[in-house]
Amino acid sequence: MKVLLVEDEVKLANALAQILKRHGYQVDVVYDGDQGLEMAESGLYDLIVLDRMLPGKDGVTIIKELRRQGMHRPVLFLTAKDAPADRVEGLDAGADDYLIKPFSTEELLARLRALSRRKDKEFVDTTLRAAGLTLDPLKGEVSNGTEVIQLTVKETLLLELLMRHRGQVVPKELIFERVWGYDSDSELGNIDLYIHYLRKKLKVPCIKTVRGIGYYLQEDADVS
Ligand code: CA
Repeated sequence: MKVLLVEDEVKLANALAQILKRHGYQVDVVYDGDQGLEMAESGLYDLIVLDRMLPGKDGVTIIKELRRQGMHRPVLFLTAKDAPADRVEGLDAGADDYLIKPFSTEELLARLRALSRRKDKEFVDTTLRAAGLTLDPLKGEVSNGTEVIQLTVKETLLLELLMRHRGQVVPKELIFERVWGYDSDSELGNIDLYIHYLRKKLKVPCIKTVRGIGYYLQEDADVS
């Protein structure tokens, strides 16, 4: 498992790199955003740990740029405790999870394990078809019949889950567990936000709400 660590606090970055190496990760460290983006773009890394505040390009700009290029490797976003808006901004930009500084190494390792599990298990299946949509979970691309739409990692996982359970209500708790993971600090409320993003992107009204319970993909919108 190759990790790219982009963090400008040199002492912290080097300490984290040592810890990750001791736990079996291969780690490359960069201390500024411009070089961070360049190395992340190489596609050589399985996971990217990205600080918010960096010299050169900041963390949010880097995630946005990677996702724009269709790069869907998991990104763990590091943010400062006193800036809660950064978390939302990071997730909106396409980060998969975040950690608030200061954090324990145990927590960092747990988050990385969760992200790599997700990468290994839930991200390997081939094309899914339901409700007129064709999803390539590996690329994070979905076609609605008229256009191909690029999704973020979380949007992809969310749509994949709904497509696998097409016609059945998927409870919010299950969505949370599968898309965010048990050890996530996110709240259930984030699901509504991501459903909103998905609906906006898909442009077809196939995701239905069951108030207070969850969501389902309506099969009769199927045109394929
Ligand atoms: Ca920083």
